[in-house]
Amino acid sequence: MKTSEMLLGGCLCGAIRYQTQAAPFDADYCHCRQCQLSSGAVMMVWMDFKRQQVKWLNGHVTEFASSDKIRRGFCQQCGCSVSYRHLDYPDYLTLSVATLDNPNLVAPKYHIFTDNQVSWLTLEDNCQRYPQSRSSPIVA
Ligand SMILES: [Zn+2]
Ligand SMILES: [Zn+2]
Repeated sequence: MKTSEMLLGGCLCGAIRYQTQAAPFDADYCHCRQCQLSSGAVMMVWMDFKRQQVKWLNGHVTEFASSDKIRRGFCQQCGCSVSYRHLDYPDYLTLSVATLDNPNLVAPKYHIFTDNQVSWLTLEDNCQRYPQSRSSPIVA
């Protein structure tokens, strides 16, 4: 493991701290309503890891079932949105890029659910945009 690939992060109040054992294998912007309403922000930026690559150093997330299969982890003290997981994919864990000590270290590669992107938000990047999930057809 290269030291440069380890990432440190945590919530606003510091009750939750984590360390990753590798760089994420993927990262994306999500504009869906579930992410908007669970975070209180107009979008989330997520990064994906194998479950065993994430080590909780301090505290643990409290999980909210935002749908049958989705669990959104937040800090019970400060409310920070920290994690996301899908029950059908137990080997993976997704963390919020914003919770990194240095969020500049992980850049998202594509946008999903741009149908819900707020109209006044201009994002001039060249990332691929998906109106719904990534498995949905792309509208040019
Ligand atoms: Zn906290
Ligand atoms: Zn979302």
